[in-house]
Amino acid sequence: MGRAFVYVILGGGVAAGYAALEFVKKGVSYGELCIISDEPVAPYERPALSKGFLLPEAAARLPSFHTCVGANEERLTPKWYKEHGIELVLGTGVKSADVKRKTLLTTTGETISYKFLIVATGARALKLEEFGVSGSDAENVCYLRDIADANRLVNVIQSCPEGNAVVIGGGYIGMECAASLVINKINVTMVFPEEHCMARLFTTKIANYYEEYYKSRGVNFVKGTVMSSFDFDSNGKVTAVNLRDGSTLSVEMVVVGIGIRPNTGLFEGQLTLEKGGIKVNGMLQSSNSSVYAIGDVAAFPVKAFGETRRLEHVDSARKSAKHVVAAIMEPDKTGEFDYLPFFYSRIFTLSWQFYGDNVGEVIYYGDMSGSAFGAYWVSKGHLVGAFLEGGNREEYEAIAKVTRLRPAIEDLTELERQGLGYAVTV
Ligand code: FAD
Ligand code: NDP
Repeated sequence: MGRAFVYVILGGGVAAGYAALEFVKKGVSYGELCIISDEPVAPYERPALSKGFLLPEAAARLPSFHTCVGANEERLTPKWYKEHGIELVLGTGVKSADVKRKTLLTTTGETISYKFLIVATGARALKLEEFGVSGSDAENVCYLRDIADANRLVNVIQSCPEGNAVVIGGGYIGMECAASLVINKINVTMVFPEEHCMARLFTTKIANYYEEYYKSRGVNFVKGTVMSSFDFDSNGKVTAVNLRDGSTLSVEMVVVGIGIRPNTGLFEGQLTLEKGGIKVNGMLQSSNSSVYAIGDVAAFPVKAFGETRRLEHVDSARKSAKHVVAAIMEPDKTGEFDYLPFFYSRIFTLSWQFYGDNVGEVIYYGDMSGSAFGAYWVSKGHLVGAFLEGGNREEYEAIAKVTRLRPAIEDLTELERQGLGYAVTV
């Protein structure tokens, strides 16, 4: 049994949805494109799962957040794929790939061949077991990567009104889920090994602002330690989280967000890997010229920094998806992917954006005791990164623009004095 397509997208997440829209915009013919996904639903905006999806009232549910609504573009329902002659193979995993033969073998036993393959397999959540802790398959321990996880999380939240939760991990999932749990009237304790939350991006000063806000909403922080084991009741439910510092926290539920691993397994030994992802060039093409990679799984050259990076954020997934379609369908008209890293989060009523790279000296501006403040990163005499909490659209556009320009900064004091005004007037 087998089918052949000109273009196959492996994975049906954010990048797949945005690539599909771009294929249609660029005039892909009926029947040429196939998307294979082990998820049971058409591509959707994954960021909604830790935000609108978890709200106690008027929660976001499919089909409202199928891609590409997150970028104010068309919402691609299963009907849309059908109307455009795109074969959407859902609920079907790919269990092996042969890049020499240009074939994929699915879990249903079908062989699908391609001329061009776009790998958009994203990543999987790291499990506590990988850190030597067992029991994370208990019914009240939740991870959050896909819609099945999100449905499960909602059920667990509803099963313990006003209960106690421990959130393991102080990264994006930890911060966003903690906020959503509080909104659901769950008492939250966050546990993470670093000195402050969002350690890879935030400075201590920035982290402090968010931690103080979280505390004002009732969140407890246990920092500088990790969990060592769970206690269970006779039904196998977790009743307590034991920490390495010797303390114990009683719980009705646990949420774990301790990072991800890109889904590269199908291609190990077949494609060059770097930084945990599939290494691609500026055309997003891997070490095999028929295979491209986008989104979380791709390690691509970030021109502005002169090095290869793997970015785990939705804007990068959307833009790399758009670029790869141009690179494949219009190679002569398409230059190298020139991407400015962009990360953001929305928690409670707070909202921040970050552009560029967080290296070098940090110059703060604005009022850190108020609702709007920010920071610039200056490295080797150039502004390379910018952060802003509580900005408006024009202000966010301004910090994006100034970071892309990488202006020379001679006087740090003057930059501090001008603050956000510097970005707005550049
Ligand atoms: P994914 O969206 O993960 O899609 C990968 C797809 O491939 C999945 O459908 C998966 O099931 C499928 N797949 C994998 N292996 C196989 C296989 N062998 N066979 C078939 N199918 C396969 N980023 C932000 O910038 N801002 C945010 O606010 C934000 N919020 C987030 C909230 C949550 C809860 C999560 C989990 C992530 C969030 N992110 C956010 C990150 C963002 O969602 C990812 O960067 C983005 O989804 C990456 O897109 P992708 O297409 O590369 O991977
Ligand atoms: P992150 O990498 O953001 O954070 C993981 C956190 O867990 C880090 O602080 C990490 O510390 C910590 N950690 C690692 N091991 C342990 C452990 N054993 N016990 C306690 N803490 C530990 O990953 P997340 O899981 O939060 O997010 C998963 C993915 O989802 C990421 O790709 C993220 O970008 C994406 N996402 C993005 C959002 C956004 O952009 N707004 C929102 C939600 C998810 P250390 O740094 O020391 O390893």
